[in-house]
Amino acid sequence: MTTALCWDDRFGTHDMGRGGLYLPADGLVEDGVHVDNPARITRTRNLLRGAGLDEVLRIVRPRAATPDELLLVHSPEHVERMAAVSAAGGGDAGGGYTPMDATSYELALLSAGSALTALELVMGGEASNAHAMLRRAGHHAWRESGYGFCIFNNCAVAARAAQAAWGLGRVAIVDIDAHHGNGSEWIFAGDPSVLTVSIHQDRSFPSDSGFVEHVGEGDGLGTNVNVNLPAGTGDPGYLYAMDRIVVPILHEFAPELVIVACGVDASLFDPLSRLGLTAAGFAHVAARLLAVADDVCEGRLVSVQEGGYSHVYAPFCWLAIVETLARVPERTEDPYEMFIAGQPCCRELGPWQRETIDDQARGHAAYWPL
Ligand code: ZN
Repeated sequence: MTTALCWDDRFGTHDMGRGGLYLPADGLVEDGVHVDNPARITRTRNLLRGAGLDEVLRIVRPRAATPDELLLVHSPEHVERMAAVSAAGGGDAGGGYTPMDATSYELALLSAGSALTALELVMGGEASNAHAMLRRAGHHAWRESGYGFCIFNNCAVAARAAQAAWGLGRVAIVDIDAHHGNGSEWIFAGDPSVLTVSIHQDRSFPSDSGFVEHVGEGDGLGTNVNVNLPAGTGDPGYLYAMDRIVVPILHEFAPELVIVACGVDASLFDPLSRLGLTAAGFAHVAARLLAVADDVCEGRLVSVQEGGYSHVYAPFCWLAIVETLARVPERTEDPYEMFIAGQPCCRELGPWQRETIDDQARGHAAYWPL
């Protein structure tokens, strides 16, 4: 069976307007191209094609989600407000950092639908795993609001659909975006049937969430796992956190489906994080998640695109992930490898990194056999 890639050209045309990093372009911020602009995804699509993956992948045009499907996760008021903002020509989805124009609502429906299409291909046995390459991202959106460039929580919609349509008892969402998956955490905080794991840069965005001691609530105590990584962690530290905390917890939880919130803004060249992963590092992360899926749920893995803002390097990180999911025998060379060999991201695990991650593992040991 093949790996599916869900893609629609409209994801490469959606305009988030003007801005500077997170901020709208007004006041003291000089007018510039918004950091979430089409280049990052069109370059990725072109790189995948250029690397020959169109011969390997099953390319599928996704369907749009229906507003009713969003109600599995979001309140009717939020869905209606998002439709109204676009109908009025644009505005903000929540928090002041989430610009919308007249097309954003439709694109957000298509993004959630892309995650659902990937899910349907995997659960229907038409693909062994799938990557939904989309804009708008979703992991910051919670039940009542959009936030941080996100309008609807695509991963959460897919998780709930997996339960509603296929009757799955346990689903895991593993969020490798550099920023805390706060929306997913809040949606599933009290639900033990959905394990939410977020591996992110400590206090990056949002700066007041994503702490180790936030382990869920009520019946969901223990099934929210935050892994905080300090700036400069790099590949060795990240992979140690995967092996020490994330992979053992996934094995113990034994999900019937692994959903990956697949941001690559933890990359070395990303303007919105300082985690310093390389494309090779992302390939190792993907390989570990794929191995867990192989072990516990017959390889069922749905990857849903999130952030990743280096227009040059993010495409190579996503390429490395998709090549790993597709189990290609030889990955495409990273043309930047010669320039990054001496960076902290490529060095060995430092004692302070081991100590930091071991300390967090002890924090999770109350709920998991770590
Ligand atoms: Zn992010």
